Amino acid sequence: MQTKFLKIQNFINGKFVEPVSRRFLDNIEPATGKPYSQVPDSGKEDIELAVTAAEKAFIDWSKKSAAERSHLLLRIADLIERDLEKFARAESIDTGKPITLARTLDIPRAVWNFRFFATAILHTENEAHLTDGVAFNYTLRQPRGIAGLISPWNLPLYLLSWKIAPAIAVGNTAIAKPSELTPMTAFLLCDVCQEAGLPAGVLNVVHGTGPNVGAAITAHPKITTISFTGGTVTGRKVAEACAPLFKNVSLELGGKNPNIVFADADLDAAIAGSVRSSFANQGQVCLCGSRIFVEKPIYKQFVDRFIDKASQLKQGDPLDEKTDQGAIVNKAQLDKVKFYIDLAQKEGGKIALGGKPPESPNERTKEGYFFAPTVIVDLPVACRTNREEIFGPVVTVTPFESEDEVIRYANDVDYGLSSSVWTQNLGRAHRVAEQIHAGTVWVNCWLVRDLRVPFGGMKASGVGREGGVEALKFFTEPKNICIAK
Ligand code: NAD
Repeated sequence: MQTKFLKIQNFINGKFVEPVSRRFLDNIEPATGKPYSQVPDSGKEDIELAVTAAEKAFIDWSKKSAAERSHLLLRIADLIERDLEKFARAESIDTGKPITLARTLDIPRAVWNFRFFATAILHTENEAHLTDGVAFNYTLRQPRGIAGLISPWNLPLYLLSWKIAPAIAVGNTAIAKPSELTPMTAFLLCDVCQEAGLPAGVLNVVHGTGPNVGAAITAHPKITTISFTGGTVTGRKVAEACAPLFKNVSLELGGKNPNIVFADADLDAAIAGSVRSSFANQGQVCLCGSRIFVEKPIYKQFVDRFIDKASQLKQGDPLDEKTDQGAIVNKAQLDKVKFYIDLAQKEGGKIALGGKPPESPNERTKEGYFFAPTVIVDLPVACRTNREEIFGPVVTVTPFESEDEVIRYANDVDYGLSSSVWTQNLGRAHRVAEQIHAGTVWVNCWLVRDLRVPFGGMKASGVGREGGVEALKFFTEPKNICIAK
């Protein structure tokens, strides 16, 4: 598909259509700072059309056997895999992430999302309870209707397919809204769904801004289930819109994740893992460990070696096969990163690495939104830089003296999404993991994902859990049927 100044279309009732308003927004390539395609600026009227299509499609789709739905989802997975290179390139151009990352992480994981839920629905069990010889109860889990699926820009296809796959696998129909900043892979996915033979109206994709399209989804009374991934401030708005309508809501929100390195850790592994968890996708992964805490005896050694390794990351054009660090998603996000670099210095921090855009972008990328991997030391633990989500290639490193102290530091933020702990002491690993307020604690690793485990955050990082059984439960309504004996 030719992508230059391509007009992306909505996908409603199995057809590619322009927004009712005929208005489009420029889609900017982060690596160049220039528009390269256009995205529909849709609104309420487009959501109304999508609801009509999804409502009609639900009648047949919800009655299909699990085997039939499974077959279609597997076909979608196969087609994404067949077109992996096209998807990876589109994702790299759209987001600014290195093409190698899109090729090895985002797109393969989207394939796995479809495969996982396509096969999971073939192996579900229904609960049954015998009530004291009086009755027999069984639980019927039925699709809920139309699901509204709203996703962010950092892992666009991966996160959207993580919602679409379970929603439609269990018999719902869906209206998906990708981020207006990164619409391209969702557009390509619609092509694939059409080719796979997904019935019209089962998946509808409506592009546009949060206030116009996202808010129309959360406000629509016929969209009874909302799965949202994005920032905590937006999540609050989504919760406020959904509460009066008693919608079933899952919120996957921001993080300020601690990465804890004890003196007994395998230092080579901890440093390599920490460089990844700090700077993968330019630090724009909700699970990135943006606060590193290092036990005092190894603090200096860790900082020196960590900086040395981080400084070897190759920054440059995301489409270059050798690039480790691509572009920040847009100018607003780049400005936010710069704001926090200034703030960190006012708060007493010292820039030990980076702190500015890299020196030599090539001709094509000279106006792109780049920022060097940045390490800040000497900051007080409780300052704003250490508490607020930056969502960029910026990490702070702080020494600690005891387990109790570092657990206190780790938990002393509003967020609770994920954490890493590096230690070779098994007892300590369990003890610390148990006390950290986070939905996921990785021990001696980072970003190892098993699609069967519950995924989500505590505190301001969200409500509800996605993944495996949790997702199948979330997208179905349990009904108890009680039969007297
Ligand atoms: P965002 O909250 O700005 O936008 C997310 C989505 O919500 C977009 O599609 C946007 O258009 C839409 N939106 C905006 N206003 C809306 C409204 N009023 N009603 C409904 N929808 C609306 O987030 P972002 O900047 O795209 O993504 C970055 C954030 O996402 C970070 O905070 C990051 O931590 C978080 N994130 C969380 C997870 C997770 O699993 N917990 C995963 C990835 C990203």
